[in-house]
Amino acid sequence: MKESSNVSIEIIEPNKIWKECLSAIKENVPPLTYNSWFIPIKPISFSDDVLRIQVPNSFFIEWIDEHYNTIINKVVNQVLGENGKLVYIVLDEKEFPNEGAEVIDDLKPLQPKIQHDIRPDFESYLIPKYKFDNFIKGEGNQLAVAASFAIAENPGETSFNPFFIYGGVGLGKTHLIQAIGNRIIEKYPSKRVVYLSTEQFTVKFIDSIQSGGISEFSNFYRSMDVLIIDDIQFLIGKEKTQDHFFHLFNTLHQSGKQLILSSDKPPKDLRGLSERLISRFQWGLSADIQAPDFETRIAILKNKSENYGIFIPPEILEYIAYNITSNIRELEGCLIKILASASLLNSQEIDLNLAKKTVKEIATGRQVNISIDYITQIVCEYFEVDENKLREKNRKKEIVLARQIAMFLSKKLTKSSLKTIGLHFGGRDHSTVIHAYNSVDQMVSNDNSAKDIVDSIRYKIELGVS
Ligand code: ADP
Ligand code: MG
Repeated sequence: MKESSNVSIEIIEPNKIWKECLSAIKENVPPLTYNSWFIPIKPISFSDDVLRIQVPNSFFIEWIDEHYNTIINKVVNQVLGENGKLVYIVLDEKEFPNEGAEVIDDLKPLQPKIQHDIRPDFESYLIPKYKFDNFIKGEGNQLAVAASFAIAENPGETSFNPFFIYGGVGLGKTHLIQAIGNRIIEKYPSKRVVYLSTEQFTVKFIDSIQSGGISEFSNFYRSMDVLIIDDIQFLIGKEKTQDHFFHLFNTLHQSGKQLILSSDKPPKDLRGLSERLISRFQWGLSADIQAPDFETRIAILKNKSENYGIFIPPEILEYIAYNITSNIRELEGCLIKILASASLLNSQEIDLNLAKKTVKEIATGRQVNISIDYITQIVCEYFEVDENKLREKNRKKEIVLARQIAMFLSKKLTKSSLKTIGLHFGGRDHSTVIHAYNSVDQMVSNDNSAKDIVDSIRYKIELGVS
């Protein structure tokens, strides 16, 4: 059975398969997107469940990854089956003069794909592209970078344990703590290093409870030499996970293992987190990351464009750096957008008009980052109820209503999964969230005054983050 199906797959034309993918993609994206980003792709070959496609240049990959990753993964699974993979090939002699064709990466592992093959027994979630080499130092991150280097040299042996990095969105926290992990496994291949976002940690913890694998869970994390947890502020409101993390922290710390944490605020401002955790977070070193100054922004842009192998005139870099000031992710996004537009327009040069247009687009269409916690806060202010009540099993009418509206808006305004939303409300399961969503949805379509309430809360939320 298996043999014959393999044989038949091998003679399938890559063109035919790609055509099938295209028609599924076409149904899911706007026509302009389809024409700009998918039509230029050419299928090259298909074998062993792997479809190789050629893209015009590496910005394409970044762009597609950032914007259409989900839909592509879905389509690939649909057309190629669960084991199907897409491999991008960049054939751009101008950009890769010595290499000709360069295989960039598999689509699935656009997420972490570990290239270090020494430790096949677990996933470290370290992303190789986050390195010290491509992290630009500046006044805003001096201390954080210096400490990161020191820790990477001697994990667990400096006084920076735990190492706690905090700062605003898009300023490089994830990049830096990942870079520490990457350097450690490069230097000490036998060290066990794992990186997790707090949400991943929470989900794994809850899964382990539900499946009865809690001791396996504990043992696994206790076996680490370096534990890196990102965005630890999301432990707020998750008492059980906090509790477990507290014991894990102690075990690791006592045996001289390195803990690396990031957060959007310093430990003392993590209101809602247990005191004993806050005090432990202050044991080692806390270092902040501030928004980069003008020179650092220029250096970052220069470094990124050089990595792409593209020359951008200094006045354009300055224009971008002058206008985008508070978020390195936006700085990077602007650059990629400019490069992508230029490559689409087939223009040889990147001119100031294009830069101006792109900066304006970014400034006006700024992607706001609304968190579930923020939504909860605004909803509770509106109804004048205590946020904790929303996480408890309280069935008072006004609490239930506030909780349901907060869940509804979390689904509407964030990209969080039902599971994640449920977790933020005292570990409720996804069916409760669906129920809340449907109730509120129905309520606002049947009752104008309810609609006004929900609209005005939504307005407050969006206003607060813009
Ligand atoms: P945070 O975790 O603080 O929200 P990230 O680490 O995700 O921010 O950084 C956002 C983007 O900006 C990433 O692509 C990262 O590589 C880039 N970046 C941030 N700081 C720097 C820096 N100092 N030098 C180079 N790139 C940076
Ligand atoms: Mg981050």
